[in-house]
Formats: sequence, structure tokens, C-alpha cells
Amino acid sequence: MGTARLGPAERSAALAQMAAQELDVVVVGGGVVGAGVALDAATRGLSVGLVEARDFASGTSSRSSKLIHGGLRYLEQLNFDLVREALQERALLLQRIAPHLVRAVPFLFPLTHLGWERPYVGAGLVLYDSLGFSFGFTRGVPGHRHLSRKRALRLAPALRRSAFTGAIQYWDAQVDDARYVMTMLRTAAAYGAHVASRSQVVGFLREGERVTGVRVRDLEAGEELEVRARQVVNATGVWTDDIQALVGGRGQIHVRASKGVHLVVPRDRIHSYTGVILRTEKSVLFVIPWGRHWIIGTTDTEWSLDKAHPAASRSDIDYVLDHVNSVLSVPLTRDDVEGVYAGLRPLLAGESDETSKLSREHVVAHPVPGLVMIAGGKYTTYRVMARDAVDAVAHGLAQRVPPSCTDRIPLAGAEGYQALWNSRHRLARESGLHVARIEHLLQRYGSLIEEVLTLIADRPDLAGPLSGADDYLRAEIVYAATHEGARHLNDVLTRRTHISIETFHRGVAVAQEAAELLAGPLEWDAEQVKREVEYYTKRVEAERASQEQDTDQEADAIRMGAPEIVPVASD
Ligand SMILES: Cc1cc2nc3c(=O)[nH]c(=O)nc-3n(C[C@H](O)[C@H](O)[C@H](O)COP(=O)(O)OP(=O)(O)OC[C@H]3O[C@@H](n4cnc5c(N)ncnc54)[C@H](O)[C@@H]3O)c2cc1C
Repeated sequence: MGTARLGPAERSAALAQMAAQELDVVVVGGGVVGAGVALDAATRGLSVGLVEARDFASGTSSRSSKLIHGGLRYLEQLNFDLVREALQERALLLQRIAPHLVRAVPFLFPLTHLGWERPYVGAGLVLYDSLGFSFGFTRGVPGHRHLSRKRALRLAPALRRSAFTGAIQYWDAQVDDARYVMTMLRTAAAYGAHVASRSQVVGFLREGERVTGVRVRDLEAGEELEVRARQVVNATGVWTDDIQALVGGRGQIHVRASKGVHLVVPRDRIHSYTGVILRTEKSVLFVIPWGRHWIIGTTDTEWSLDKAHPAASRSDIDYVLDHVNSVLSVPLTRDDVEGVYAGLRPLLAGESDETSKLSREHVVAHPVPGLVMIAGGKYTTYRVMARDAVDAVAHGLAQRVPPSCTDRIPLAGAEGYQALWNSRHRLARESGLHVARIEHLLQRYGSLIEEVLTLIADRPDLAGPLSGADDYLRAEIVYAATHEGARHLNDVLTRRTHISIETFHRGVAVAQEAAELLAGPLEWDAEQVKREVEYYTKRVEAERASQEQDTDQEADAIRMGAPEIVPVASD
């Protein structure tokens, strides 16, 4: 299977293709669920289009805890089927579908009670580990082990001795959520899907009650086009109710949003060789290793303000700091925080008022002929959601459609990854890059690293790191625009790389250099370079100011003060 680029020319071609023919399926929303639906449908031989109003994965799918997990706390809620399904997905993603993007990560579960707690948590972890075996696969991660306090302190010297009595270590998996979505869309495009970002669905085409397609606004060109499709799949997460309002009539699915905030701190601020999971009064808090950083989160509070840019307030940040500091011997302060991000969980509206008790399971609905709605779920189980949505599409198409085969479709860059990983010292010698750099590239691109290295060989000026964000090479910025669908500076600094949360300057110090690198492939003149830098800088300023506010309302009002580089239609 060849690889596909998602550059500017490919976007134009995709929109032209979508306008020119009646598709089997058009997918609304380019988060993990929409991307999964596009790949599932394309690999079943259907003609597919996907439109995303903003950047790919710019909604919830770049703002998660970045864990591929069964969810220990669902076990406590006795939701075994959900845990089993998620752990089977974890095994599949780790070992077959995306070994370059998904990797095992250890967590320490500190015990705070003597007596009952160790057998209780230990039994849960025996179950958790055994539910992970499936498909003839191993679980893909090591099993849990019991630790005395002394041994736990050796693994996590940063923990305060008096904060716990002993610990259990277990393993889960983590993913670069934004890159995973983009890689899945590249894979779907390689199988023939037409994919376009900054393309918003603003209405539906109807024949009587039946939905026969969507009206799409190309937000870059300011033009509208009609995309005819035999089935439309709505995968817009927390925007589901807005789409239902466009369709009219009574909606069958209601989605509400719950905000989760994460902090990023440098790795050296917490001396530990393992991640940590802590119980909180409502849920759990993770301290997750993330390259040269830790991601710490999350919160869980009702949110009904702006959905595209949920703002983190001072109270959110203090909540996370207070909880993590309860177990650290040297507390973190606000000055240790490099990055902050907030995301919205798309929760199926249920009976309970407490958002953390609402189900994470998904539903598929067929409110009117021609339209399939899919919502809920979690990142880990996107493939199952996508399969169920395309099964509903197949039903609506009234033709024989083969069953889902995405359990056997490796994502772009997976094929050959292990061999290249084993050859990383040779790659380092041949390219002149340090082996640590090659490892970083392999974990971002898998076997597509060859394309990045070819770019560097052709343009040696791109071989060096960005000054101010030296985890990333200049070539990666260019490649993000030519191959990975990035169209604006923000896309590159926030989602193709994570410079916006991994540096104290939050990307501002590299904005000019990155914008100049993007100018060639995206055909920007000096005026556009200036505009991109200004918009990015204003966004960071607004986020910083919103994080000083006490309430959600104040934080939201300030965040909304920063303009959008490509406003969506309702702005
Ligand atoms: C704080 C937090 C932590 C989480 N941690 C985890 C975790 O560790 N593991 C896990 O498995 N899950 C986790 N989740 C859940 C998981 O991230 C989500 O379930 C998942 O990302 C939702 O994906 P989605 O595709 O449904 O929505 P989204 O990613 O939000 O995608 C919907 C897309 O639709 C687009 N859209 C909206 N309206 C239109 C329109 N009119 N036209 C075109 N496009 C439109 C939006 O721009 C958006 O990109 C977490 C969630 C949060 C908030």
C-alpha cells in the first residue's frame, strides 16, 4: 500500500472530487471517530469523503490524557465488557495497527491504607491484566507487580514517604492523540478517501425527509459546495447537538461536555522512572511520562461555554497542582508549569448530574434516512465505534458491504517500523543525526521517517533543530505542511508538534522561524507570515490570561478575545 500526502494540492483535489460525484459515504468531523469511520468505510470498498471544520483532531482528539487504556475505574464500576473491549483494542493498536504511535507505559498505584487495599487493588489488577489477552495476541504490556514502600520509592523517589504505605505497578499504553488521527487520515486517503480540513458542514441536502448529502463551506476559499452522498455519518463529538439542530426535528442523541484540564511540566521536576495514578474524590489523576515532560491530569467539570477553545481557569490548575502535590516531597508550583491544555469529553447525556458518572460507551443512531449519528465512547475504542457506524451505513445502503477489516489494517508508517527501530544506529550513521533524534523521529513517523530523511538529504538547511524547541527539526515543520495536512502555524505548533505545551514560551519564540518555513509549501507572502505569527501570539497571550481567572466564565471570555485565523461559519 502506498502512502498518501495531505498537502494543499491534495486538499483542493479532495474537495473537487467530493463535489463531482455522489459518494457512498460522507463523514462530518475529523476527530478520531470520524477518521476511524473514513478508514473503515474506505477499506470496505466504499467511496468516502471526510470534511473537518477546523484542523484535523483540533477538537477533543488532541486534548485527551493520551492513554490507550481499559480504564481501571470502569473496573471498579463493574463494567467488565467495556474494559475487556478497550484492552483488546489496546493489544491490537500496540502490536499491529500502530506500534510506532502507541507504546506501553508503567503506572505506580500508591496504596494509602494498610490491610484491605492491597488485596482489593491487586485483585482488580489481576483481572485488568487477564482481560487484556485476546485475538491470539498477548496483552502487549508487562503484568503488574506488588512493591513495598521501599521499592516503590526507588522507582519514584519524588514521592513523599508518608503519603503511602506501599504500591502496585501496572502497565497501560499511551499515544500521541493528534498525530494518530492525522496518520489514520493519511491511511484512509491512501485507500481512496477524499479528506479536507477547514471545510465546515453548514447544512444538509434533503429529498423529502431523506438526507442526500451536505452543504460544505470551504473556509479557506470562502466558497460553498454540495457533497452528495448516499449516507452521511455525523462524528462531531461535542458538536453533535449542533449538527442535529441543522438537520431539524427531534434529535436522538444528546451529548454534553465535561471539561478536563492537563498540565505539562518538565521531566526533571518530578524524579520518577514510572508514571503514577492517584485516586481523587471524583475520579483519578494521572502523572504520565511524555518525552522530556510529564503530563498531569485531569479535572472533570461540566462545561457549556465555547466548544472549540475550552479555557482552563486558575481553579482548574490549582486543583491539579493540589492533588499531585499531596504525594510529592517537593511540591510543584505554577512556575513549573510549561503547558496547559483543556479538552471536552463528549458524554452521552444521562440521568446522573455528575459528569464523571456518565457512561463512556457509545451509541449509533439513524434519526432520518440517509443519516447515521455516532457519539460517546472514548479514544481507545474508536475502531469499534467506527465499525458500528459503518455497519449502520451498510444497512442504509441496502447493498452487500464486506465486514470491517480495520483490525488488519496497519496505519501509515507501521509497516517496517520494527525493522527500522532495530536499525536505528545505522540510520543515525547514514543521516548524520544523533540516535536519540532518530528514535524520536521513528516514534512520530514510523517507517515514513524515510520521507523526512529524504527531505533533509535534499535540503540540508532543514537538518537542524528549531531554535527554541530543539526536540523538533526544521524539516518536520515543512513536512507537516506538505504531507500532514497542516495549513496554519497553530496546526504545526499545537498538533503536528506539541511545542505549544512543551516549552515555557509556548511556541511564541519559534513562531517566526516556523512560519517562515511554512511560507514556501503553503505559498504565503510576507503579509501572511506576519498574520500567522500575530494570531498565534494572541492566542497564547489569551490562554495565559484566561489561566489567571478564577471562574470558567471569566476564563472563557478572555480566551474568546483572541481571533481565529480561519473563523468557522457561526463565528
Ligand atoms: C480531558 C480528556 C481526557 C481524555 N482522556 C482519554 C484517554 O486517555 N483515553 C481515551 O481513550 N479517551 C480519552 N478521552 C476521550 C476521547 O478523547 C474522546 O472520546 C475522543 O477524542 C472523541 O473523539 P471524537 O472524534 O468523537 O470528537 P472530536 O475529536 O471532538 O472530533 C469532532 C470533530 O468534529 C468537527 N466538527 C464539528 N462541527 C463540524 C461541522 N459542522 N463540520 C465539519 N466538522 C465539524 C470538530 O471540529 C471536531 O474536530 C479523554 C477526553 C478528555 C476531554
